[in-house]
Amino acid sequence: MAPHRWVMKAVGEPMEQEPLQLEAPAAGEVLVEVAGCGVCHTDLGYYYDGVRTNQPLPLALGHEISGRVVKAGAGAEAWLGRAVIVPAVIPCGECEQCRRGKGTICPNQKMPGNDIHGGFATHVAVPARGLCAVDEARLAKAGLALADLSVVADAVTTPYQAVVQAGIGPGALAIVIGVGGVGSYCAQIAHAVGAQVVAIDVDAGKLQALEEEGVARGLNARAFDPKALKKEIGTFAKANGLSSREWNIFECSGTAAGQATAWSLLVHGATLAVVGFTMDKVEVRLSNLMAFHARALGNWGCPPELYPAALDLVLDGRVKVAPFVERHPLADINRVFADVHARKIARRAVLVP
Ligand SMILES: [Zn+2]
Ligand SMILES: [Zn+2]
Repeated sequence: MAPHRWVMKAVGEPMEQEPLQLEAPAAGEVLVEVAGCGVCHTDLGYYYDGVRTNQPLPLALGHEISGRVVKAGAGAEAWLGRAVIVPAVIPCGECEQCRRGKGTICPNQKMPGNDIHGGFATHVAVPARGLCAVDEARLAKAGLALADLSVVADAVTTPYQAVVQAGIGPGALAIVIGVGGVGSYCAQIAHAVGAQVVAIDVDAGKLQALEEEGVARGLNARAFDPKALKKEIGTFAKANGLSSREWNIFECSGTAAGQATAWSLLVHGATLAVVGFTMDKVEVRLSNLMAFHARALGNWGCPPELYPAALDLVLDGRVKVAPFVERHPLADINRVFADVHARKIARRAVLVP
């Protein structure tokens, strides 16, 4: 297959295939032959809602990339031939924020499909710094393809960072709102670190799939008004020996309705993690944070240092990827975007060149 990428030229206009010259990577960079690239809610935001990319169009979208390093620039030779996951946010590693371990707010960060060409392509050039190496023997043992691991670049690691940041473990109650591409992993990760997990969604099928992966209780948001929902979770907490305080709420739906629900579930000492993104606004009484001595946290992606631990959960089978992804040919990108947008594809779509 001749090297190519699919570029977005304007909002909502069909993406177009363009040929790619495979140049030698610059110092510190590598060329990755893409195994798979996941279609994220954020890509839909750029493509359908006019959210601006940092690099002007035309641009190849896609920031959920796994693949193999096929060319390496000076200083990055050790990566040649290796299977890798490309972090969705690649910090520079040298600025003041990076030196203090705050790579996700690095002002020089590179996000494929936003700051540089992304992974909806046969090849992508990225900085070598922050790449996450994949042990292919463990990958084979786990029965996964390298393409499936593309979701580790964002859908797994972003909630992983949220869970780490919330500081939850055994004895904690984790409430995950929206169990789609990101939330399904958030729920599994929370369970893997020992929390008891309640998942809330409007899709009964998704809730059922997660009850097989360690989620203690799935609640259909359509069946409860906010008060009844909070009461139901309180009953669950009591029945399972959990506190009526210090709930950990992970908003992963990226919808105004989900955010309103998340806010309505605040209790004393609660942690609200805003993991999903929407341009929509919600009206809240911010003083509830004060009255409940609660906190609200955000996280932009995940620092590359945390990727190996998140990948371990997947390779150990503690976080299942296979039931939540489906592969599609990259050539079908325009149809797949439309289907994801129309919610005809419930699982994470991974485009394979
Ligand atoms: Zn994303
Ligand atoms: Zn930096």
